[in-house]
Amino acid sequence: MKLETIVVHAGGEPDPATGAIAPPIHLSTTFEHGPQGELPHGFLYIREGNPTQRRLEEALAAVEGGEAALVFSSGVAAGTACLQALPAGAHVIFHHDLYYAFRQIAREFLPRWGIAASTVDLADLDALRAALRPASEVSAQVVWGETPTNPLLGIVDIAAVAAVAHDAGATFVLDGTFATPALQRPLEIGVDVVLHSTTKYLGGHSDVQGGALVLKRREPLYARLAHIREYLGAVASPFNSWLVLRGLRSLACRMERHSATALALARALAEHPAIVSVQYPGLPSHPGHEIARRQMRAFGGMLSLRVAGGRGGAVAVASRLELIANATSLGGSESLIEHRASSEGPASTAPEDLLRLSVGLEHPDDLIADLLQALG
Ligand code: PLP
Repeated sequence: MKLETIVVHAGGEPDPATGAIAPPIHLSTTFEHGPQGELPHGFLYIREGNPTQRRLEEALAAVEGGEAALVFSSGVAAGTACLQALPAGAHVIFHHDLYYAFRQIAREFLPRWGIAASTVDLADLDALRAALRPASEVSAQVVWGETPTNPLLGIVDIAAVAAVAHDAGATFVLDGTFATPALQRPLEIGVDVVLHSTTKYLGGHSDVQGGALVLKRREPLYARLAHIREYLGAVASPFNSWLVLRGLRSLACRMERHSATALALARALAEHPAIVSVQYPGLPSHPGHEIARRQMRAFGGMLSLRVAGGRGGAVAVASRLELIANATSLGGSESLIEHRASSEGPASTAPEDLLRLSVGLEHPDDLIADLLQALG
């Protein structure tokens, strides 16, 4: 079946009790069991699992093409669970260009958990090979990538990194939040675990927080991750699971529209005298364009602008926008812009002249007009 069909139907079987076509939201925290804890319906307690969450997990596994999925209370919680699943003595190699909260977690928490972290540019496969440690020296090893990256819109060659990681016996975890399974199929080209912040495009309406891990193979990680989620408690609520499931139904058409509009904006702005550069993998001038063409169906709805005049210039443009709101986050129907270094705070590595733009579902002409008037 084609992806457009899968996103509409996955996890959407009519409710067996009522025939309802829209899935019910089961808010119950507890489920009737037998006198010795027998589970006739398969559920015990909300933190362990619940029917709405299960529907979303079945849907995400089907959409991404994995054997299993687990949903969490946020994207950060999903990523953290991956790291918490590692034994002390493990080693994680992070891509140098990465969502900033994971950089912070690597600095602040991994040392406390006895896990070593290194950073490499995953475009440099020799540097990756050099950073990977012999299996005899580590209890487990992970390569952690992101593509396209937040906020620089860098591209990682998924298949090439997977091959090097697997040669060394490492697990390859990829944050695919910007691309979504509608545009990129990481599990088909070597990734072991795909991470999504479902707060973004999968939810799609800036009104729900969630995260997901989709596993290519159920073994060996599923049980450990489910155990971590149950005991550390970062579960997705039934209502949030329901909202993400609802968002998923329109994912394929939204991503087509986000991508077409972002490309129109990137082209319209690339030559503007007040723009130093536009970072968008759909532009042939982007250094990752050829790789992105190979591994993405379209180039997504995120782009970054480097604005003339440094920090002052960028902030001035952001402050003059009328239609596009200044706000963090991404993936909703409304376009949002932010001065990323200000949002990330003192530890930010985002260039001072960079504005990150989440291109929404508005007509491109209206967005271009707003940006042109703000650029002056
Ligand atoms: N990964 C990426 C690429 C993100 O952009 C974000 C949030 O902006 C996250 C993960 C974290 O997701 P959440 O905010 O749902 O915890």
